[in-house]
Amino acid sequence: MILIFIGPPGAGKGTQAAKLTRQYGIPQISTGDMLRARKAAGTLPADLADLMSAGGLLPDESVVGLIRDRITEADCSGGFILDGFPRTEGQARALDAMLEAAGRRLDRVLFLQVPDGLIVERIVHRRMCVSTGEVFHLLYSPPPAGREVRQRDDDTEPKVRRRLGEYTNTFEALRRHYGSLVREIEGTGTIEEVASRIHLALGAAAPREEPRSP
Ligand code: ADP
Repeated sequence: MILIFIGPPGAGKGTQAAKLTRQYGIPQISTGDMLRARKAAGTLPADLADLMSAGGLLPDESVVGLIRDRITEADCSGGFILDGFPRTEGQARALDAMLEAAGRRLDRVLFLQVPDGLIVERIVHRRMCVSTGEVFHLLYSPPPAGREVRQRDDDTEPKVRRRLGEYTNTFEALRRHYGSLVREIEGTGTIEEVASRIHLALGAAAPREEPRSP
């Protein structure tokens, strides 16, 4: 199964993609995580690192290559879940070409919908555990006492607003591009509520069973 998650920052793409990964045994591929890892390791060019910190979108060519390499790795042979890619029509076309060349087919494109006001509230309270990367919300799912957490440098209100603006500029083009593969998912409510909507939307495209352990 090949799935794409599209949605504004903080819509819960990463959370829901991680759940599907465990359920279906296919990897989650997040360009945001891949870029943050490169930034932390000092291997992302400085101008791109600055653009990312400011909440801007990176040029298509800087992310397309990452995906091209990643989806040919062995663990992607049974499918994968893309989270944060494609973000522009150019990236969507590049992905189409990669999949076609590999004789592979996209199953579904899930659009997670969350109102802007809720996005800002979720993101400015978002914190990550320094050692595990686990995500917390300071009010609704606060980190346990003693856990060292940090805020992403692009999770401040002005930067969230810029990221939301980037999303608003591009998502209609993506929705048109993917046409009948698109399923709209209401992204409000609990994690489990959203997960069950996703499960319904995947319908026949979803494997019915949990992967068996070897
Ligand atoms: P968000 O929480 O906004 O969904 P991500 O973690 O997916 O954020 O991405 C963080 C940042 O990484 C983006 O604001 C952007 O600068 C960069 N980025 C991630 N994926 C892409 C992409 N597909 N195209 C361009 N830039 C990207």
